[in-house]
Parts: sequence; structure tokens; C-alpha cells
Amino acid sequence: MAKKKKGNVELVALKCEECGRRNYTTQKNRKNITAKLEFSKYCKFDRKHTLHKETKVK
Ligand SMILES: [Zn+2]
Repeated sequence: MAKKKKGNVELVALKCEECGRRNYTTQKNRKNITAKLEFSKYCKFDRKHTLHKETKVK
């Protein structure tokens, strides 16, 4: 059974600041987290860790 999506949890994409690709998606609870998400993650296109910032999935 698929769970229904709750209103406060939002699916966001993490966009590489170096090449602009959306390499990751994550879930964010808008109730708990109001700031923009930023992670240092591995970008396979740049072949190194880069800063990934939250952006819209679509
Ligand atoms: Zn990149």
C-alpha cells in the first residue's frame, strides 16, 4: 500500500552549484525546516563534492 503524502512534507531537489544539475532529491518538512537546505554532496558530473542547494523538483 502506498502511503498518502502528508501536507507538511515536501519533495525538494538538490541542485549542484557548479554544473546546475539536480543530482539528489530529498524530503523536507516545511513545519520544522524553514531555511533553504544546503548540503555538500558528491556530483558525479564534476567528480567531486560540491555545494548542493535546495530547489523545486519541477
Ligand atoms: Zn555538478
